[in-house]
Order: sequence, then C-alpha cells, then structure tokens
Amino acid sequence: MSVVFRIDSPYRSPYELHRLTFGSGSPSVAIVAGLHGNELNAIHAVNMLVSALRVQRPRGTVHLFPLVNTFGADEARKRWPFDDQDINRAFPGDPSGTAVQRIAYALLEASNADVCVDVHSGAPHVRELPQVRAPMSGVELELARAMGLPVVWRRPGARLEASGLVGAWRENGRQALHIVGGRGLTLDSRLSTIIAGGLSGLLAHLGIVPSMGTGQTLADVAHADIETHRAPCGGFFISEVRVGDIVKAGHLLGYLQTPVGGERLGEVRAERRGVVMTLRANPLVHAAELLVRVARQDR
Ligand SMILES: [Zn+2]
Repeated sequence: MSVVFRIDSPYRSPYELHRLTFGSGSPSVAIVAGLHGNELNAIHAVNMLVSALRVQRPRGTVHLFPLVNTFGADEARKRWPFDDQDINRAFPGDPSGTAVQRIAYALLEASNADVCVDVHSGAPHVRELPQVRAPMSGVELELARAMGLPVVWRRPGARLEASGLVGAWRENGRQALHIVGGRGLTLDSRLSTIIAGGLSGLLAHLGIVPSMGTGQTLADVAHADIETHRAPCGGFFISEVRVGDIVKAGHLLGYLQTPVGGERLGEVRAERRGVVMTLRANPLVHAAELLVRVARQDR
C-alpha cells in the first residue's frame, strides 16, 4: 500500500490517500470506493478484490483505492466533514485549492488508467441491487455487460458532469463506469460479494485475471424500461419484496400505512414483469419519495 497524497490536519493524524497496486504493464484499471465516507458496501467490495488479487498474478495493472474519504468514514458521513463538501463534485480538482479540491486533483492524477470504475452505495434510506448506472454505449457498454452485475442501467444523457469522478475520467479520454450497490451506512455482505464479483468479471474480461465465471445479469435496461413507484402520500412503507426479487404484473411490492395506528393507506403493485432493483429501506416517507424501482425483464 502506498500513500499517494497527504494533507496535514489541525489536530488528528494527517489525511492520507491510499492506493494498492497489483501487477504492471497494460491494460491498466483503476477502481475507487469511499469517495463518500458512509458507503460501506463499496469499500468492502474493493477490499474483497484486494484479497483476491493478493493471491493472483495479474497480467496488467490494477490500482485500487478502497477508501478515499477516510475522515468522512470516521464520522459516518458522505461528505468531507470540515466544510461539508462532496468530493465527487470537486473534479477535476485544484492542487492549490481547498482540501476537497486537492484530494480530487490527487485522485484523478493517481487513478490514470485505461479503464476506471467508481463504486458507490445507495443513500442510507434506499437499498440498491448492484448495478452499473451511467450513460454508456460502445466499449463502455461492453465492459459494463462483462461485469455480470444484476442490472445494467443505460442512463440517459450523452455525458456526465465533469465535476464527478466518472465524468472527469471521461473528459480525460478514459473508459469509465459507475457502480451502485447496497445501502449507505450499512454493510450487506451478500451485495458486497456481488459487487466484488462484478469487478473480478471486468478484470477477467480484460485478460488481467482468469475468469471465475460471472454473475447473472437480470435486467439490461434503458431509462424507459424502469418502473418507478413513488409514495402517493406520506406514511409508513412496509415492503413485501427484497432487492433482486423477480416480480410479475400485479405482484404486491409493499403497502403504506399510517405511522400511528397502522391503518392501510394504499398498496404498491408491480405493473409488469421485472426485477426489484431499488427498495426503500427507511419506512418513513413523504409524498413523492422513492419507494421501489422495478427493471423490466423481457426474458
Ligand atoms: Zn456515493
């Protein structure tokens, strides 16, 4: 493990950006997690890949950054704690800027690779089935599919904001992808293992490690193929499914009831066959908040 960047902090130990590198030569891959300090599934998935690479001989270079926002992680916070800035909105960064801008600059420099992946978890109030989620086509779409993650979501839009890491990598001419899986603030080792398997699948596709077999993609969808259910009113949402469940039209996804007294306010049912890809984890909802996303399955 090497420290590729360091900033003194006022009272505690210095901030250090850690990178683990395996192998040498091309192709090269960089995988980043923990830009958001409370996204623990992403951190765990990259650490699982570290363990696997320790006993393999990669044919190419793999740079791993398991946890960028260490100070945020200390405090279970998504953002950088001192000024509440989002590192993933600070790219391409500035070597003489604020702490967050300097970290962004150093990370972008240190993660210069042919293929780059940024791994996140969902927000603390939702659980996400592991998915590649980005505007993508051509080689990037091929790489996304090679991961064998449960969902490939071709988000609309030709480009990503260059203030985010994936957008900044793309501005620099890199193939770059964004993965989301699990729920913020919590660890789900089943979902972390799926994410780690997807990252291994990508390395195998690039010929860096032997293939261990990839997971099964349950849905490969454009935005129009995703059915989004939002709360019709405020209440207490009780889900009747788990992420990864396959549902048919009419399947009861969950119901809303009053938080006090438990009177049923309404039901949420699937409109068509699909896989539950996002599910509300915190049951207290306001009107129009996200409850469930179902990705259409044609097979
Ligand atoms: Zn995140």
